Amino acid sequence: MARYTEAQCRLCRRETMKLYLKGDRCYSDKCAIERRNYPPGQHGQNRGKLSDYGVQLREKQKIKRIYGLVEKQFESYFEEAERRKGVTGTNFLILLERRLDNTAYRLGFANSRSQARQLVRHGHFLVNGKKVDIPSYLLKPGDRVAVAEGSRSLQIINESVAALPRRGVPAWLDVDASKFEGTFRAFPAREEMNLPVQEQLVVEFYSK
Ligand code: SF4
Repeated sequence: MARYTEAQCRLCRRETMKLYLKGDRCYSDKCAIERRNYPPGQHGQNRGKLSDYGVQLREKQKIKRIYGLVEKQFESYFEEAERRKGVTGTNFLILLERRLDNTAYRLGFANSRSQARQLVRHGHFLVNGKKVDIPSYLLKPGDRVAVAEGSRSLQIINESVAALPRRGVPAWLDVDASKFEGTFRAFPAREEMNLPVQEQLVVEFYSK
């Protein structure tokens, strides 16, 4: 398990920023970025300047890691974003944010996206009153997400809910923690997403 922890923190160190992959640990002084904010490896502190391609690639990897996706899924979201009207980069982030696992995490029912994914897969969430166990399920405005009644006593869910005041809930979601439920009110605006990423670089990466 220790190795796994280290592996996730290495991803953050590779991107030299917090990707919030480890729940509570990410908000503590045990966070590896707080202690060693440089890429891992022998030459981590002495890397040269990246090419344009390198910068685009790193940004793509960063976003992919934040949402915990594999390349194929990531690309298919991008293709879908391109097909839609509007700004491709923003469309892309909106699609990622609409995922049920991401929303369960954002609502505070899990302390990381990977934990949320596991909880969704195990059938701990309802959407509009019906069990949905597909992490990639895309929510639309007005959809209600709730922890299944039989799952409300789970320790990991309760611990996550207890941390909600510290983490906060984004503007496009409403949550009623006492009822273990929340609403996906609207598609998020770019500025509401508060993501320290440059999605335009991903657009450039895939435009080659
Ligand atoms: Fe590890 Fe910090 Fe990244 Fe969390 S934010 S996964 S604790 S390096």
